[in-house]
Amino acid sequence: MTEIDTSAPVLVTGASGYIAGWLVARLLSEGHTVHAAVRSPDDPTKVGHLDEMARDSSGSIRYFGADLLRPGSYAEAMQDCELVFHTASPFMSKVEDPIKQLIEPAQLGTRNVLEQANGVASVRRVVLTSSCAAIYSDNSNLAETPNGVFTEEIWNTSSSVDHQPYSYSKTLAEREAWRIADAQERWDLVTVNPSIVLGPSKNPRASSESFNMVKQFGDGTLKTGVPRMGFGFVDVRDVAEVHYRAGFTPAASGRYLVSGHDSDLAEIGVILRASFGDRFPFPPRILPKWLLWLVGPMFNKWLTRKIVSRNVDLPWRGDHGKAKRDLGIEFRPLKESVVEFFQQMIDIGAVKARA
Ligand code: NAP
Repeated sequence: MTEIDTSAPVLVTGASGYIAGWLVARLLSEGHTVHAAVRSPDDPTKVGHLDEMARDSSGSIRYFGADLLRPGSYAEAMQDCELVFHTASPFMSKVEDPIKQLIEPAQLGTRNVLEQANGVASVRRVVLTSSCAAIYSDNSNLAETPNGVFTEEIWNTSSSVDHQPYSYSKTLAEREAWRIADAQERWDLVTVNPSIVLGPSKNPRASSESFNMVKQFGDGTLKTGVPRMGFGFVDVRDVAEVHYRAGFTPAASGRYLVSGHDSDLAEIGVILRASFGDRFPFPPRILPKWLLWLVGPMFNKWLTRKIVSRNVDLPWRGDHGKAKRDLGIEFRPLKESVVEFFQQMIDIGAVKARA
């Protein structure tokens, strides 16, 4: 049971990010002092939306320049904090050098932040933004689970530098976090493990892979069709709320799988077409697995045959019972997240309707 003093400042690493935007908004609306650790504290495209939120709230924000790979760079930002939200980690699927671009910032960055927590006496709890990617590598892993559903008990054991490197980076980072947390007793670790996060952003210029995933439905990338590939989806506002409750609920503990809906890519296309009609080149059909296996890697080098075999036409199922029971979370309908996200992309000109 960890009681957090609500008058102490709260650290959010990667405060400029997509998920962090809603978490910072929630903290500010409750009057907290937020220590925002970001790479570019002077760049208005990264922090302007946070300034605006702080102006309209009872809370306040202070910026600290920090980089995951610079040892000691979170020291000042963590001073006097009892609660640390460690959200910063690169989330991108198309990388040329997975070790440099994903694995090192995720794993060494987590070590950097959590070892800093060992050195700052005020820290009582660290909430780490992990991922369902630390639970599974491919949809085919569902068949190996005890009850045909992904849960907090399960760990990703089949990603590697060459196969699903983002998932590998999140697995290594979360394992590192538990190793450091278990070696001491002053602070406890709670991890939030979301599936694919969707929904409007506080910073429409944020770079999360979530944007690319939905944008490609409207920018012509999927104009020939979409694979039926299972995913869990969850709204960004619900994920932020889970973080907040995981931070301030004394009895919160362990991992929280956070996924509102068991679904697939094809359903996203169906929702978009039903809501926005034929104004955008939404995928007109479901692409057969054999075709993707044959030609997929020629069009997209990241769509390897191994990924096609282990994910296409296979469902995803996640158990969000623990988050509901311990944290009282309710999940928004998938349609709301998808439609509001896409509408925001139209509003900022990220996708354009046909003339
Ligand atoms: P995002 O908008 O790209 O946020 C990532 C944050 O990490 C940004 O603030 C980024 O800073 C920061 N960052 C990256 N490399 C850094 C470095 N070397 N030093 C310091 N900061 C660095 O993506 P997001 O979706 O909100 O992701 C936030 C967290 O959620 C990540 O841990 C991600 O793995 C996890 N997650 C995301 C999803 C999803 O579907 N979106 C699902 C599950 C888990 P800059 O703004 O300076 O680039």
